[in-house]
Amino acid sequence: MIDFKHVTLEYPVTRTLALDDVSLNIGKGEFVYLVGHSGAGKSSFMNLVLKRALPSRGEVRVAGEPLSAYRGRRTSILRRRMGTVFQDNLLLPHLNAFDNVAFALRVTGVPQREWPQRVTAALRTVGLEHKKYALPLHLSLGEQQRVAIARAIVGNPPLLLADEPTGNLDPDNSREVLKVLQNVNLRGTTVIVATHARDLVETFRHRTLTLRKGKLVRDDPYGGYAL
Ligand code: ADP
Ligand code: ADP
Repeated sequence: MIDFKHVTLEYPVTRTLALDDVSLNIGKGEFVYLVGHSGAGKSSFMNLVLKRALPSRGEVRVAGEPLSAYRGRRTSILRRRMGTVFQDNLLLPHLNAFDNVAFALRVTGVPQREWPQRVTAALRTVGLEHKKYALPLHLSLGEQQRVAIARAIVGNPPLLLADEPTGNLDPDNSREVLKVLQNVNLRGTTVIVATHARDLVETFRHRTLTLRKGKLVRDDPYGGYAL
């Protein structure tokens, strides 16, 4: 699903080596953590996969195709095929859970008659079918993050990228969000989670990639936090 071959990302001006000769392969259907201290290169990795940044050297392939082959309109189609979840989920405050999730279908042009079934299925996956009419204000932060996950998966993306998805959450809500991400993965989506949350990485074990100063220093198939 994702293939990095000797990927280096050097930011211009500051000449920061955000990623330094990283090679890795993430297969279809995997659940992978990306761990590392602040500044290790986790967000840069995500940005490369989304083609929000271009490698200075090396090649990034997604679904077998080099990202350099995607141009213009195809780049936006590619991005739409990836679900993204961030620390700040940015739900639209005036829309209820259902409409926030449906919004993702609206912008990608899915016919309105398909919305109810698809939105309901996505909310069911994150365990919030019963809160579909609730406004974000009336949901806990953990529930809001689960709505954001529903919004990210409603288009059935083959890949879900989550960057610090539990960054603002307490331990209980963090575990709930992790379980939801595992559920999404069990339904066939490849899931990549960048996180600082040591307890989660050690509780819910999955392959773990460790970055240090832009280098991939560890790739542990059984997981575990080794910083
Ligand atoms: P985190 O550890 O939460 O990822 P960072 O401090 O690494 O926080 O970065 C937060 C955001 O700011 C990232 O999206 C990153 O791309 C951007 N950023 C980080 N460092 C710089 C920088 N030196 N110049 C411009 N943008 C930066
Ligand atoms: P992480 O997500 O692990 O915190 P980042 O990928 O955000 O790490 O950052 C990796 C390195 O690249 C850091 O040294 C950061 O300051 C730098 N960096 C990130 N974004 C930018 C940017 N847009 N311009 C310049 N430097 C950046």
